[in-house]
Amino acid sequence: MGAAADTDRILAEVDRAADEMVAFTSDLVRIPTVNPPGDAYDVCAHAIGAELARRRFDVEYIAADGRPEHTPAHPRVNVVGTRRGGPGPVVHLNGHFDVVPAGSGWTVDPFGGVVRDGRIYGRGVCDMKAGIAAALFAVEAIARAGVALPGSVEISGTVDEESGGFAGVAYLAEKGRIAKGRTSAVIIPEPLNVDRICIGHRGVYWFEVTARGRIGHGSMPFLGVSAIDGASRLLQIAREELMPKLAARRTTMPVAPPGACRATLNVNGIEGGQPVDGIQTPCVADLCRIVFDRRFLLEEGFDATRAEVEDLVRRAREAAPGVQFELRDLMVVHPVRTPDDSPLIGALQSSIERVLGRAPSLVASPGTYDHKHIARIAGVPHCVAYGPGELELAHQPDESCRIEDIVNATKVIALATLSLMGVTS
Ligand SMILES: [Zn+2]
Repeated sequence: MGAAADTDRILAEVDRAADEMVAFTSDLVRIPTVNPPGDAYDVCAHAIGAELARRRFDVEYIAADGRPEHTPAHPRVNVVGTRRGGPGPVVHLNGHFDVVPAGSGWTVDPFGGVVRDGRIYGRGVCDMKAGIAAALFAVEAIARAGVALPGSVEISGTVDEESGGFAGVAYLAEKGRIAKGRTSAVIIPEPLNVDRICIGHRGVYWFEVTARGRIGHGSMPFLGVSAIDGASRLLQIAREELMPKLAARRTTMPVAPPGACRATLNVNGIEGGQPVDGIQTPCVADLCRIVFDRRFLLEEGFDATRAEVEDLVRRAREAAPGVQFELRDLMVVHPVRTPDDSPLIGALQSSIERVLGRAPSLVASPGTYDHKHIARIAGVPHCVAYGPGELELAHQPDESCRIEDIVNATKVIALATLSLMGVTS
């Protein structure tokens, strides 16, 4: 039997499995794994595990013992299925099964798993329960086509990606379950559009600046020192001096949309003085806190990024005498980029061309995803995101995923998995 015939049979098996994939995706959408707080994780892990077991994977459940967020009320349970083939490469397909809250504006039940007009609707359908289904049925189609796996495939369903992934992929990496030497390549079927391969993301630096002034009588504000005035000076300097500098910097990474190729700064929140809803007293605000989200480029690096923020705080001190400013780091995520010559990129490129008949583009994500843990903790350089679903629909009301995309992504993942194991179509 030739490799081309194998490929044709695999693609035909994916087409035949379309209804099963839709049913499995809908079933997962009906489990409201909302994060925060991390509802129904155990139920969802076991639903994925049961499907993996039905497909003759060896299944393990890995609870994030020792993580503070792993509580009896909201257990953090991950699932890993292994389909052992020959002694060749180990390809790991990872999908997070937590979803963000539904929010308002829905015209369908966000947890109904409704199928209509060639799409499945629901919170988390594209981000990324359809991706989990694609991973599972990619491997299943290879088996149904009677094609032997020269290596092994692992499929993991993990928690908490939307809140940083520490009890999910980071935990599996820390425990050596995904690791350099053990894991050859990782595909994360996040919704980046079916003809795009995502090769990484910018860095994230969340920090808090606390401004402290001196309380005084609101009728004689000149006798106090307003922390809010101090904080506004800092914001003004950020807007007038720092932000134009950031906007002028562009990464060579293909971040989509193009606006996110630049370094950016967002104010997540600000809190100062008296609670606006409370009973008011005539007082000068002695405290104001601001939380910032700085996205930095691979080319900038974290040290220079932080030094620039220290400089901003120093400038604010000069501009607001009497106000004390304090800088506190909240979270740092370093940028990651798949090496240009990674065999993973080549395997996906040729598989996408084979399935869709057009060349894919490489993109980088405007936000971050679990890639960082694979690269930084597991030390596996060969990781990309590729999966069904349109990026623009993630986290939106009426989130949906085109069934045709799920089928095509499944085909691509199947062929790429075999290609990584040395089987070319
Ligand atoms: Zn996601």
